[in-house]
Amino acid sequence: MRKDISTPQYTRSIIDKHKFTFKKSLGQNFLIDRNILDKIVDTAGVTSETGVIEIGPGIGSLTEQLAKRAKKVTAFEIDQRLIPILKDTLSDYPHVKIIHQDVLEADLPAIIEEEFSGLDDLMVVANLPYYVTTPIILKLLMERLPIRGIVVMIQKEVADRMAAEPGTKNYGSLSIAVQYYAVAKSEVKVPKTVFVPQPNVDSSVISLMLRDEPPVEVADETFFFEVVRASFAQRRKTLLNNLQNNLLSKEQKAEIEQVFQEVDIDGKRRGETLTIAEFAKLSNALLPLKR
Ligand code: SAM
Repeated sequence: MRKDISTPQYTRSIIDKHKFTFKKSLGQNFLIDRNILDKIVDTAGVTSETGVIEIGPGIGSLTEQLAKRAKKVTAFEIDQRLIPILKDTLSDYPHVKIIHQDVLEADLPAIIEEEFSGLDDLMVVANLPYYVTTPIILKLLMERLPIRGIVVMIQKEVADRMAAEPGTKNYGSLSIAVQYYAVAKSEVKVPKTVFVPQPNVDSSVISLMLRDEPPVEVADETFFFEVVRASFAQRRKTLLNNLQNNLLSKEQKAEIEQVFQEVDIDGKRRGETLTIAEFAKLSNALLPLKR
């Protein structure tokens, strides 16, 4: 039987055979550890009924493990040089489809409909390129795709921010944006040594299981996220200051203070102490002051 793509020896031989050179600008750090790959696929709960969207298959190490368990895998790869390599390494898996495209430009709802019609269980699974982790995850969440969740390897620092609780140093607008759509859990810390080439940072596998509904009632989503972003604009400033300076205006100070009283939130608090429920309450009450 053929060896896994992910063994260090086989990875090296594929790279040598195709004279592939890594592009740092595309976040190319390939996984060479079968245990980590299994952990990712296990965490995603991939079964023979699951359709998987992968982002950045590289030379196919994660794709191969996904293909062994999933009904179908459709993967987006931006680097043209990897397309013939993937054709070679994944030739045993006819239910894998590679799309040569920047995932940020992909029409995901249309592709899901085309590729996965009839499948009820869809997951996004990836070892993401670190330079575009946040835009990719926010795109996946904000487009409200018909997926069960997202399990991805990302930079540990970003995973910690996504899963952070109120009152901690990592808690910020990214935590709220992600947790509004999903239940975030940092699953396992991963050392640099499981990649080739090794990145400069530690990594984590994070799971984002989509909520059926947002955890809070928000009257205007755009304004809710504007309030959140403005509240964290200068982390050391109070809520009142941040909202006055970054969203509303100094002339509205008395009205803003009135709203703080109404919702029973102290305007001297800092954004990092507010729960999502408090941000929802605050943004709903501030909405009439929107300019
Ligand atoms: N899945 C492989 C693995 O685990 O060994 C490779 C992961 S590597 C961290 C990231 C991959 O994403 C690379 O193959 C890179 O070319 C690809 N990539 C980078 N930016 C992309 C984008 N915007 N859309 C699709 N693929 C992208």
